[in-house]
Amino acid sequence: MKFSILTLFPEQVSNFLNQSIIGRAINKGIIDVNLVNIRDFALNEYGKVDDTLYGGGTGMLMQCDPVYDSFQSIVGDKKPYTVYVSPKGNVLNQKKVVELSKKEHLCIICGHYEGIDSRVIDEIVDEEISIGDYVLTGGEIASVVIVDSVSRMIEGVLPNSDAYTNESHMAGTLEAPQYTKPRVWHGKQVPEILVNGNQAAIDEYNRIASLRETMEKRPDLLEKLEISSEDWQKILANKIQN
Ligand code: SAM
Repeated sequence: MKFSILTLFPEQVSNFLNQSIIGRAINKGIIDVNLVNIRDFALNEYGKVDDTLYGGGTGMLMQCDPVYDSFQSIVGDKKPYTVYVSPKGNVLNQKKVVELSKKEHLCIICGHYEGIDSRVIDEIVDEEISIGDYVLTGGEIASVVIVDSVSRMIEGVLPNSDAYTNESHMAGTLEAPQYTKPRVWHGKQVPEILVNGNQAAIDEYNRIASLRETMEKRPDLLEKLEISSEDWQKILANKIQN
C-alpha cells in the first residue's frame, strides 16, 4: 500500500515513521510512504504558502495553490483516496482504519497554522478525518496516527493476523487483560486457567474477560453488542470471583 503525505513539516512525520514496526515495513517494501513538502510548491522564492484570513481573525491560512500543486505532483493515472486531517472530520475508529487499509494509495493532507483554504479542500479531498475532539497545532501527528494504525492491518507488517484480530476494538470489545512472566508479581498471581494448557478453556476465559474489561472500562461499547443472558451471568460471576 502506498501513502502520500503532504505536509509543511516532513521531518516530524519521518522521525516517527522510520522507526520500529512501521520503519521495518517501509524497509521491507510492504508499505511505501512518500513525503511531499508543500513548501516545495511555494508561491515565491521566500517559500510563501500562507496568508491572512479574509473577514479577519488571528493567524495565517495555508493557500490553495501550494496544496493543490503538491497534490497534483503525486496524482498518477489514478487519483489517490484523499484525506484531510482536521478537527472537523469524523473521529477515527478501528472500522475506518480497516476501511482505509483496503485503499491502494492513500493521500493525507496535513494542515498547519489556522488550517487550509476551504476551496482546495472541497476540490480534492474525499474525506476529513479527526483523531479526536481537540485541536492540534498541525496535522502531522494525525497523519502518523493514520499511517500507523492502517499499516498494522496490512499483511506482512505484523507477524500474523492473530496479532491484531483479538485486539481491542477489532470486534467491538476491549482485549482481555494480559500477563507475562513472572507468574507471581508483588503477590499478584496470573489467573490459573491461563497456565493450564487447555486452549479451549483459555479462549473461553479470555472471551468473557474481554467482555468484562469492556463493561468496566468502556460500557458504551457494550451497548452496541447483543450479549446473551448466559454470557452476562459469566461476566458477573467472573467479576465477583476476582
Ligand atoms: N482552525 C482550525 C479549526 O478550528 O477547525 C484548526 C486548525 S489546527 C490549529 C491546524 C491543523 O492541525 C489543521 O488544519 C489540521 O490539519 C490539524 N489538526 C488539528 N486538530 C486535529 C485533529 N483533532 N485531528 C486531525 N487533525 C487535526
